[in-house]
Amino acid sequence: MLYSEQVFLVAGLSRSGIAASEFLVSHGAKVYVYDDVDDSNVRAATERLKEIGCTAVSKEMLAETAEKCDVLVLSPGIPVDHPLPISFKKAGKHIIGEAELGALNLHCPCVAVTGTNGKTTTVTMLECIFKAAGRKGIACGNVGKPITSCLKELGEDGVAIAEISSFQLETLYSLRPHVAVILNVTEDHLNRHYNMENYIYLKSRLLKNAAESEYAVLNFDDRIVRGFSEKTKAKVVWFSLRERVEGAYIQDNSFCWYGERLFSADELALDGEHNRANALAAIAAAKLMGIGNEPIHAALQNFRGVKHRIEKVGEVNGVQFINDSKATNVDSAIKAVGSVKGESVLLLGGKDKGYSYEPLFEALKTSNVVHAVIYGENAFRILNAALKTGYTAVTLCRPFDLAVRVAYLIAEKGQNVLLSPASASFDAFTSYEERGKRFCELFELFKREAQPYVKAEATHGEFDE
Ligand code: ADP
Repeated sequence: MLYSEQVFLVAGLSRSGIAASEFLVSHGAKVYVYDDVDDSNVRAATERLKEIGCTAVSKEMLAETAEKCDVLVLSPGIPVDHPLPISFKKAGKHIIGEAELGALNLHCPCVAVTGTNGKTTTVTMLECIFKAAGRKGIACGNVGKPITSCLKELGEDGVAIAEISSFQLETLYSLRPHVAVILNVTEDHLNRHYNMENYIYLKSRLLKNAAESEYAVLNFDDRIVRGFSEKTKAKVVWFSLRERVEGAYIQDNSFCWYGERLFSADELALDGEHNRANALAAIAAAKLMGIGNEPIHAALQNFRGVKHRIEKVGEVNGVQFINDSKATNVDSAIKAVGSVKGESVLLLGGKDKGYSYEPLFEALKTSNVVHAVIYGENAFRILNAALKTGYTAVTLCRPFDLAVRVAYLIAEKGQNVLLSPASASFDAFTSYEERGKRFCELFELFKREAQPYVKAEATHGEFDE
């Protein structure tokens, strides 16, 4: 693509939209930028992009400007059936995402990771493994670092460790990873992708460009992901927590790779079966990229996890607070509940994404969760699922702050307050990070409240009380 000959409209000005605009301007393209949100972040981004030569488009001028543009760069946050991409589609014009722009301009190998849960954890593990091996591997993509902003640093000798979401897969066509990892597929984002068939199809698209010389690292334990092996030309390498597969697996409590014992699974710093699965996927990808056992062992032994993922916040009055704000779907909450030690009061709720919460309550019946406090916009949908499954240890309390306090009041000494909400945050927050941060702030407040009362100097008031 000769950028200087094309006119682009970049829609959605969060991190990836900003990076795409900067990339395009630096390659001589004419760039219009648009966002229908009017908040301080978007205003600041628009001003900055205007300074480098972009033209900001108002809502009123959008249709007219769109007609002048050749390519729409669509933010992953905007669905492909929004009127703007539909108008481009009808006109026979290109619709791409920032990740596609990145893929078109990558000059180094790529390890790409998708799946419903565990993507960020796995790409971050891989980045640490590369670092321990003295290799330039950069975690990018949906992990919060747009691919286009890493291109220079990656050069030809780096490895792009790209986290790819289903939203990005809607507008990604050219990525051809040397190693494509698919971790799992469970119900999520059905409000955006309509049904599981479409969601599964989108996930499978990570493998569609693969040739025989490339690898697909697939989760043998996940029925849907196992099925992808039949649809790819890539060499399939499995990972499994349960079976001795061709690839990475656990045997006699050790991580193994094609018959070779690597190290004890107990040495993994992170708790939880799901993190063992993430580690197996990372081991497989690292081995396929030629990394030795030592750096893999050292990195995984030291990897303490990513913020807002089963993160221990602290203890107040004998109650442990655990922030798993990134658990934004049912399966991730089930995994968190299964991996947290001791009894928990669970905080559930937020923005609904169109799936059933019943499997969650079925799982809670045999778990260490003693009570669920339900909050947020979807509180009544969740409550309905609880009652349908006969799970009655619930309290409904819609505002987030109050719900956290109620959970804290219910929790007894030795128990946890676990925020693993199985829902998106957008009903009340701008992101799961902001929700997790608020949870930590509330913990700090409870800690201050728990400080022993210090008696003030005895005084005689001026006025009678
Ligand atoms: P993603 O980037 O795919 O959203 P993260 O690594 O950020 O995944 O983890 C999000 C949440 O999902 C975590 O808080 C944890 O509760 C859960 N989780 C992590 N790995 C897995 C996995 N392999 N399977 C199921 N749930 C997982």
